[in-house]
Amino acid sequence: MTETERATPAPGAAPADGAAARRLRNFVGGAWVEATSTEVLETRSPASGEVLAAVPLSNEADVAAATAAARAAFPAWRATPPQQRARALFALRALVVEHQDELARLVTTDMGKTFDDAFAEVGRGIESIEAATAVPHLLKGENLEGVARGVDVEMVRQPLGVIGAITPFNFPVMIPLWFIPYALACGNTVVLKPSEQDPLPSVRLFELIEEADIFPAGVLNLVLGAHDAVNGLLHSPEVDGISFVGSAKTARYVASTAAAEGKRVQALGGAKNAMVVMPDADPKLLAGGVTSSAFGAAGQRCLAGSLLVLVGSKEEQDASLATVVEAARGLTVGDGADPATDVCPLVSVASRERVEGEIETALGDGAELVLDGRRDGGEGGAQLGPTILDKAAPDSRAVREELFGPVLTVLRVEDLDGALEVVNSSRYGNSSILFTSSGGTAREFRYGVQAGMIGVNVGVAAPVAWFPFAGWKDSIDGDLHANGGDAFEFYTRKKVVTSRWA
Ligand code: NAD
Repeated sequence: MTETERATPAPGAAPADGAAARRLRNFVGGAWVEATSTEVLETRSPASGEVLAAVPLSNEADVAAATAAARAAFPAWRATPPQQRARALFALRALVVEHQDELARLVTTDMGKTFDDAFAEVGRGIESIEAATAVPHLLKGENLEGVARGVDVEMVRQPLGVIGAITPFNFPVMIPLWFIPYALACGNTVVLKPSEQDPLPSVRLFELIEEADIFPAGVLNLVLGAHDAVNGLLHSPEVDGISFVGSAKTARYVASTAAAEGKRVQALGGAKNAMVVMPDADPKLLAGGVTSSAFGAAGQRCLAGSLLVLVGSKEEQDASLATVVEAARGLTVGDGADPATDVCPLVSVASRERVEGEIETALGDGAELVLDGRRDGGEGGAQLGPTILDKAAPDSRAVREELFGPVLTVLRVEDLDGALEVVNSSRYGNSSILFTSSGGTAREFRYGVQAGMIGVNVGVAAPVAWFPFAGWKDSIDGDLHANGGDAFEFYTRKKVVTSRWA
């Protein structure tokens, strides 16, 4: 019986209640171990409400066991030639490709997103593994001969040591794979702490890795839990670097705590992404781009466009809005496992209630509903349909803050300068999107907009593993982005050697 089967009810079995759900285990030093903490949290299917498993809330001692295992494995892993580490990643890639379907189904079950979306998520994780296999080439240093008579200088890259990776609920496979492949490729060892809300895909991934015997014991470890586990990593003397993705508030906390502990840290945070619509936007690209960005994964993406900035005269703005509203009305809300579903449930009932509260607040702040997605919540109680708000006050939460649900707020401006002013006044700068038919307008937007990921006629400027991925401003704490060349920078330290030989 596999770890995930051990912990979850068989398909068709009576739904487990909290007490009956099996406890998941940590993966430490190459073995599955019970957390010593007795505290647990249930993870439920967002579509049905069924309890899937009990997630241990690991404590400091549980984290210490994992970091000790990672530290012990580090010298031998660091000494493993980069080509061999790359070959381990080729094996990991083959494994994830072979199980892409299964992992995607588990993402749908535990997180809720549609199967197609989940399949694409795992696909992006595969691309990160592929990018990391270039490690022998990208670890090469540089040298300068003869900086003085008979003196040469060379720079070599060495791994940091032990990396703590802390990840959010909304991409339970892709985001762990933004970190694990590159960190391991560079010769580090890793402790992953996935989101407590949907850890099953990570557990399955580790189980597959264990079965395939890809990495030596202790090189890759898994600790389940929430805040205590995160704090355990942040304060551990064994941890040298922290890679984090989550909300802006947690990112700031993680970055400041890790930095105060002398650790290298990259903390990718939340977002409020604007989609600017010029009057010359292609209606088909506009309709598909905006609805998939705002309402795909029920708005639970860091790249979700949640602000629609309509440019032009009142008539032009109204025409653009009508195109978007008509497309949004046609979306089907339902279970992510149903191929007919466009808008999946939110990750939990609590999340749906929170987003509904934000809609109420927006209405109280003077916004008007153009499309009301509130409903009974469906079987699992977590469904919320596409919601569009117009006439929101420029300083209201619906305009300024990330609501992380299928809610799109409309703002209206006269021209591109006005749009850039609105977009750049945000404290966030994760992503920004432009819909236009003009190359000149697109260039001006690209030049002036303050965000890390820009889309032109593309609703979601999704990560492409060979490029760095992150936002600007409050959407990141730290300097180096995830993926691409930045990942090799983050996971290595530079050493400069000056030599003279008699
Ligand atoms: P979150 O901040 O609640 O949790 C992220 C991780 O931090 C989890 O592992 C959680 O256990 C831990 N955590 C949460 N609160 C903590 C605390 N007070 N102390 C210590 N640890 C804590 O985020 P989430 O709800 O899981 O994910 C959604 C958020 O992540 C959104 O804001 C979204 O924009 C953001 N996100 C950003 C990116 C990006 O690339 N910038 C990508 C995906 C998601």
